[in-house]
Amino acid sequence: MEPTRVEFLHLPEWQKALFYALTFVSMVLMAYPIVKRIRVWRQGKPIDWKPDIWGGISTYILGQKKVRTSRPKSGAPMHLLIFYGFLSLFVATTLLAIATYAPLVGIPNFHRGLYYLVYEATFDVLGMFFVIGVAWALVRRLFFLPKAATNTAQDTWVLALLLTVGVTGYLLEAARMANDPQPYDVSAPVGYALAQLIPRIGANTYLIVWWFHMIWVWVFFAMIPHMRLRHIVMAIFSAGGQPQTQPWGELKPISMEEVEETGQIGVAHAKDYSRWHLMSLDACMECGRCTEVCPANGVGKILNPKRVAQDIRAAAVSGAPIAEAVTEDALWACTTCNACVEACPVLIRHVDLIVDARRNLVAEGKLSGTAAVVLRQTASTGNAWGAPAGSREDWMKDLGVPLAREKKEFEVLFWVGCAGATDPGAVRTTKAVAELLNRAGVDYACLGQEEQCTGDAARRIGDEFLFQEMAQANVATFAKYGVKKIVTPCPHCFNTLKNEYGQFDGDYEVQHHSQFLLGLVQQGKLVGAELSPGQTVYHDPCYLARVNDESDAPRELLGDESHLNGMPSPVTEWLDQERGRRKLIEPEHFGRKTLCCGAGGGRMWMEEPPEQRPSNRRAEELLATGAKTVALGCPFCRIMLDAGIKAVTDEEIRLVDLAELLQDANRKAP
Ligand code: SF4
Ligand code: SF4
Repeated sequence: MEPTRVEFLHLPEWQKALFYALTFVSMVLMAYPIVKRIRVWRQGKPIDWKPDIWGGISTYILGQKKVRTSRPKSGAPMHLLIFYGFLSLFVATTLLAIATYAPLVGIPNFHRGLYYLVYEATFDVLGMFFVIGVAWALVRRLFFLPKAATNTAQDTWVLALLLTVGVTGYLLEAARMANDPQPYDVSAPVGYALAQLIPRIGANTYLIVWWFHMIWVWVFFAMIPHMRLRHIVMAIFSAGGQPQTQPWGELKPISMEEVEETGQIGVAHAKDYSRWHLMSLDACMECGRCTEVCPANGVGKILNPKRVAQDIRAAAVSGAPIAEAVTEDALWACTTCNACVEACPVLIRHVDLIVDARRNLVAEGKLSGTAAVVLRQTASTGNAWGAPAGSREDWMKDLGVPLAREKKEFEVLFWVGCAGATDPGAVRTTKAVAELLNRAGVDYACLGQEEQCTGDAARRIGDEFLFQEMAQANVATFAKYGVKKIVTPCPHCFNTLKNEYGQFDGDYEVQHHSQFLLGLVQQGKLVGAELSPGQTVYHDPCYLARVNDESDAPRELLGDESHLNGMPSPVTEWLDQERGRRKLIEPEHFGRKTLCCGAGGGRMWMEEPPEQRPSNRRAEELLATGAKTVALGCPFCRIMLDAGIKAVTDEEIRLVDLAELLQDANRKAP
């Protein structure tokens, strides 16, 4: 006898009709509330990008890119089991439906023979992923739930419901085998094993099990839109529609025409966000991953990115102003480090939401204190520190640094940045880079007094038009000298020049100094730094490692060959360690998952009580490795960690830029 099975076994026609009716009702109950939400999303601005729907869905939904790397020790494997188990059950049901209804269009039912045996074996095993994953989630929710995740009785019941659906699915399979045993039943090993535990049953008992299973399936579908389960649907929309062409480091510009048209700057109400941003908020599953990694929340500040997403979502329905839905203190507390964006499995862009709201606060005159002073200084001197333009050349004395206005033509522009020209610690980095460029014979020049702040901090604090003024002035200066390639030791300048100046026709090849210096080492023009293993810890700057995915170049420059770019998994990290590629000691957070020093988003200039300084927390974490040297590649991080290290220890710790370590090595080289 050819292996197959009868669909709707023992089901009389009237019950079949009831099945179709209830399936229709549950689908309507699922779809209607979601369709109703379209009204909320449509309040937003039309999107101005072309979504890569398949790219987004294949990477983030089918590939589970974000899920794979967040909470790798528990949340990730659990969610992967549930997702792939659910997906396989979905595929199995779809294939079965196609096979069952194929005869209606003249195609014979193909659910038989070898296909049937392979189908049964595959989906019987894969379906267990779902059951195991849900059971794991239930145990985790009851006993080991992460602090930042929301926990309600409803969530526990939903998991119990999912488990019921999974388990009754297998019971149904076993009941079919017990009711109508066949020699090939063993091809579905889980169902077959269960069938051995129950006695042979009659048709009526089988039907009871069938209806019991189906009722829970319908309840599940009908519940999807009403709780965090809705991410099953909404995450697909969020991933498919996301602005994949907008790097995380690029904030959208505001035009004067827009301001004249709307009479406002930035976002005052949820309707001022894009439709995609509003839609993505509906995908939030309240997992708390964003809050768990938020450096501001981690030191007890009021900012809670999960809450921000939830509150803006609620404001989109109520129409409440954003300033009422999210407190100003929370909005100002953000360092724009993008840790939340990196962690969010449904691709919510918290930084866009927060900076857009800040823009409105700044326009409404709600920024005061030291950050407001910095904006005034930047506007009047072109330097965030308020230093006069001429002082940008003070560090150059006797170093033989070529100036653009004298040299006129050069291959590489060495962009120093406000900190690099002004702050004493950062000036050491600047001098080291200049010495290395000279030593390697690079054809470069600095702008000196012609350089102005990139406007990074102004933009992220929320003063968009001050940023645009700075950007346009710098782009004009670059045009004067025909600049094509820029190297800078500041990841904030690097990000802005690389990702944001294109908005003003300023398209350049921009490299962080670690990348450029590594190139010189690879060309044999410099020698790399050789550190003694286990003595030095490297602090990854957010705007280099996370926002611009560069963690390898700084390490390689220091003789460490760990491969951290992209989305490393615990397996690749383990392999790096096993193969002896690691020379640096890694702190708890490193690479893309680095912990912010607290400087970004203009926070460096905002006052905060000592117990709420992310720099102290990061300093503690770096020193917990036992390292006596802390290497870094960012002048902002240097300022913050210098204070942080002094606050948490009396020990002598060397805080040093990568360029200085390379400078040491090259001075010693023959
Ligand atoms: S960008 Fe950083 S500081 Fe801001 S909310 Fe996200 S994690 Fe927190
Ligand atoms: S915003 Fe993203 S990371 Fe945060 S709770 Fe919602 S789904 Fe989780």
